[in-house]
Amino acid sequence: MSFSLAIVGRPNVGKSTLFNRLVGRKLAIVDDQPGVTRDLRDGEAKLWDLHFTAIDTAGLEDATDDSLPARMRRLTERAVEEADICLFVIDARTGITPTDEVFAEILRKRAKHVILACNKAEGSAGEAGLIEAWGLGLGEPLAISAEHGEGLEDLYAVLLPLS
Ligand code: GDP
Ligand code: MG
Repeated sequence: MSFSLAIVGRPNVGKSTLFNRLVGRKLAIVDDQPGVTRDLRDGEAKLWDLHFTAIDTAGLEDATDDSLPARMRRLTERAVEEADICLFVIDARTGITPTDEVFAEILRKRAKHVILACNKAEGSAGEAGLIEAWGLGLGEPLAISAEHGEGLEDLYAVLLPLS
């Protein structure tokens, strides 16, 4: 059975980078400016022998502060409703922000399955963030690096029984 995986989280944590890696093409725009992805975007994703639909969620152009604009919240809620599994991405280097807490709350209430991924965890810069991430109450955080392709075997291991 195939499934759909929505990649959600605040702007600039690396959602589009991960989406592009899973889809194997640059369908989503990656930028250091938060919020370049403007809408929901889906693509056929592959992780070894797992085939599924990945959904990249939007940031919002003015989401540069730590607020969570209503439009982004609505898009995230839509992705959560549509997807079988939510991959909640945080920035392991920054640690948990108040906006991450807002997302965690939405996911705890609405998502069928949540996988917590701490991105930018290449090297040791993300270790504190990884420990902090346990506090979100969403289970064991996975350390990944979307940019360097690290930790994807752990993601595979978590997705396999859900597929
Ligand atoms: P989005 O707003 O959540 O979609 O984030 P993007 O995918 O656009 O990435 C935001 C920034 O984080 C870009 O500058 C990326 O190059 C960078 N980035 C993404 N993944 C990683 C990673 O694994 N490690 C590091 N160090 N930077 C990353
Ligand atoms: Mg994006």
